[in-house]
Amino acid sequence: MNNTPLQFRRTGILFVISAPSGAGKTTLCTALRQKPDFVWSVSCTTRSPRSGEVDGEDYHFLSPEDFASRLANGEFLEHAEVHGNHYGTLKAPVLENLRNGIDVLLDIDTRGAANIRACGDPLILRALADVFLLPPDLEELRRRLLRRGTETEDQVEIRMRNAAREMECWRDYRYTILNGSMEENIDKFRAIMRAERYLTRRMTAVSPTTA
Ligand code: 5GP
Repeated sequence: MNNTPLQFRRTGILFVISAPSGAGKTTLCTALRQKPDFVWSVSCTTRSPRSGEVDGEDYHFLSPEDFASRLANGEFLEHAEVHGNHYGTLKAPVLENLRNGIDVLLDIDTRGAANIRACGDPLILRALADVFLLPPDLEELRRRLLRRGTETEDQVEIRMRNAAREMECWRDYRYTILNGSMEENIDKFRAIMRAERYLTRRMTAVSPTTA
């Protein structure tokens, strides 16, 4: 009988989180990023930076022309127009991390998540673990957006209309977290991360000599 202890190697996990604007997703992601056992995917956007946002850390802030030329070059894994601006995930860093067994976290809207589900790339589909953060009700969202004060009243209305549409998509996600306190949300998200890391279908047994 072979007595060599088993070792495993696995490909990375593509954690995707979506939630309507104001549901607490940015706060959750910021908290998760304090203990980063994954790579945060920095999206490209044509929207202007908010105060305190850093280019290359929060987003790659691009001109509409630059975004369009990257899109034409096929640089995006997914992209969508959200609240009147363009957003997109760069494909190359995501694929490189997943191939190297490094987990990646993406904060994208529901259409971006749908694009990823439809992408047909076996590495991406095997890697995908999508999570929807569901706010208890729309009025609470409006209050949060107004309190945040980073959008004009018109922008808040656009975000509210989009929120109603986005909330209908929760069933498309593998996991749903009903928004609770920040600590509860972090706990639940970390529990999902832990379980996904033991998923058999992403593992390959390797002999210690090649591990
Ligand atoms: P915000 O402008 O508030 O940072 O983000 C607005 C929305 O755009 C959020 O729902 C966020 O998840 C989404 N978003 C951010 N980056 C991307 C991306 O790369 N792709 C897509 N599809 N949505 C994104």
